[in-house]
Amino acid sequence: MKIVVDENKCIGCNICEDISEGAMGVKFGKKGKAAQNPEADLTDRVVVENVKLAIETCPTQAISLEK
Ligand code: SF4
Repeated sequence: MKIVVDENKCIGCNICEDISEGAMGVKFGKKGKAAQNPEADLTDRVVVENVKLAIETCPTQAISLEK
């Protein structure tokens, strides 16, 4: 599984870093856009739950999970 951020939608607010507990965030992306933390373990159920919460919380619905 991987976290995908639509760079056309992401506004760089970085709410997702807190909500996902560091599984993603602006500091992992380019040009002020969020991206997956390369060290995020998406085989961990808790990490995935946190990312799902970030998906729900993102104000522009820029985040998705791909298999
Ligand atoms: S919460 Fe959404 S809009 Fe904000 S930085 Fe994360 S992906 Fe981008």
